[in-house]
Amino acid sequence: MDVRSLTMPVEEAEVLSAEQVVELVLERLHPRVALACSFQKEESVLLDMLLEREPGARVFALDTHVLFPETYATWRTVEQRYGIEVEVFQGPSLGRQAATHGDALWERDPELCCAIRKVAPLGRALAGLDGWISGIRRDQSPTRAETPKLAWDERHELWKACPLAGWTDDDVWAYVRERDVPVNPLHERGYASIGCTHCTRPGDGRDGRWAGSSKTECGLHV
Ligand code: SF4
Repeated sequence: MDVRSLTMPVEEAEVLSAEQVVELVLERLHPRVALACSFQKEESVLLDMLLEREPGARVFALDTHVLFPETYATWRTVEQRYGIEVEVFQGPSLGRQAATHGDALWERDPELCCAIRKVAPLGRALAGLDGWISGIRRDQSPTRAETPKLAWDERHELWKACPLAGWTDDDVWAYVRERDVPVNPLHERGYASIGCTHCTRPGDGRDGRWAGSSKTECGLHV
């Protein structure tokens, strides 16, 4: 069946709670839907919501090979807590990248670096799925301000759900505290947003991502 022809209540989803959006996509798309997990606090919330409702729910991560040790530790923690194995899609090894593009590509050409370390693995992760779930929120940046809770993703040709689109930072932290879910310890050290080591500094919102450059997105959500 053409996944686009699936009837999805896009407009109705806007008035649903985050939990209801999660239930909706599980009901309509599981097991051909997966959470894209970057081990930030938003994914901690979504992992908990998703796995409480469907222990067999699918979760994948993009391993750029330059994530923080704290992020890899959070990865192991959530796998143990929920008894899951996160599906992994990787960028090239540092050695292979250096041989092809030279050292420190993130400094010389961050767009290309993101393209081969994040965007290409995402394409492989989404191939064969009917939908994906993302933790992005509207208040994180102007580029995310119009994020719908549920929409057809034209670029990747599948459904995309953002159950936390309307949540604030305070909403996320309230859920984390109430459910005592494991979160990346870097958040407590001033990193509101967490990506790769070379391109992430402490900062509010997404200020710490590619700080000092005009780059604001890695290309996964544009
Ligand atoms: S965030 Fe930085 S290190 Fe990570 S893929 Fe993009 S440019 Fe490369």
